[in-house]
Amino acid sequence: MYDFPIKAKNKLKSEGYKITSARDDVIEILNEADKPISPYEIQEELKKSGIDYKVITIYRILDLLSQLGLTHRIYSINGYMKCDSEHIHSHKFLVCESCHDVQSVDLKHEKHVNEANSFKASREINEVLGLCSKCD
Ligand SMILES: [Zn+2]
Ligand SMILES: [Zn+2]
Repeated sequence: MYDFPIKAKNKLKSEGYKITSARDDVIEILNEADKPISPYEIQEELKKSGIDYKVITIYRILDLLSQLGLTHRIYSINGYMKCDSEHIHSHKFLVCESCHDVQSVDLKHEKHVNEANSFKASREINEVLGLCSKCD
């Protein structure tokens, strides 16, 4: 079974990063979120458990997780979500503008297209805005 916290922690370790309690806490919140979540929302969630991190700390963790391909930033609604795929991939995101539900579609060949064109991608924004089946 796909287990995001285990995948995330293994990846951090294999890249030489420590599993700090802040990283662990943010990973758990991302795992439980069913929609993209902002650094401020993560801070609020953790406050409910009596844990108080600075937003910049949470932002840095999200940045690191994104660099490692563990989370994706959804620019159009300014949130982060855990990656739901175990493989090397890129996604197209279908973003509902009403309820902010996000579905990801695997674009398995996208990376190869970039490589074949000697194009070094720094940021990829594959977002389609619209209405999900529940909101339409
Ligand atoms: Zn992904
Ligand atoms: Zn919706």
